[in-house]
Amino acid sequence: MTAHILLVEDDALISGLLEFHLKSEGYGVDIAATVEDALTAVEAHPPDLILTDLGLPDEDGLALIRKVRGRSNVPIIVLSARTTTEQRLAALELGADDYLTKGVDPGELLLRIRNTLARAQSGVAGSAARGPAQSSGGDVSRFSGWTVNFAGYTAQNPKGEDVEFTRSEFLVLAALARHPGRVVSRDALLDAISGFDDAPLDRTIDTYISRLRRKIEPDPKNPTVILTMKGVGYRVVE
Ligand code: CA
Repeated sequence: MTAHILLVEDDALISGLLEFHLKSEGYGVDIAATVEDALTAVEAHPPDLILTDLGLPDEDGLALIRKVRGRSNVPIIVLSARTTTEQRLAALELGADDYLTKGVDPGELLLRIRNTLARAQSGVAGSAARGPAQSSGGDVSRFSGWTVNFAGYTAQNPKGEDVEFTRSEFLVLAALARHPGRVVSRDALLDAISGFDDAPLDRTIDTYISRLRRKIEPDPKNPTVILTMKGVGYRVVE
């Protein structure tokens, strides 16, 4: 089955060109020019991947990322004219999977899309195929009332409710949860997501940690579950 991509871009010239490249690779393409249209399209015809601009006429593309993440873990790639690290981090923090700047070579864009789709599809099957994770507790780890199922890519909060994480968030969480109580270095966390974020910045880890804290901590501003070991890394409390 061919993957179906939702292209969110208000510049008809750019969307026409992107549509041409995507279709020539065999992808199905829907185009939305506003955040509102994009959200309608996500409901009507759930895409396998969203490729979105940030400068959109009705709302900022960051709002689209936030709203989509509220309901789905569909891969999102940003293609924006904004080039600063802050803008890139803002998009990643909200749950974008990759960030490209406009003017990117079409070949590279298509490669990033292919890789992101492949990782999304291998997320569950791939980890199951690898067999039990190499943690003390086999497939499952528990910390602070949380249960992380490595093979299933799922995690339950202390009430036993499933909590949704993006793939990159889950990989960071899994790296921490494999050895509760043990400090995991920032380098090791970067390694854990390196395949998922093509040029991982050191500060990317901070954005993932803050996203995890918002989902895990009773009070994200005063973390008691994911602790910072200054200058070393992070650990989860047993
Ligand atoms: Ca635009």
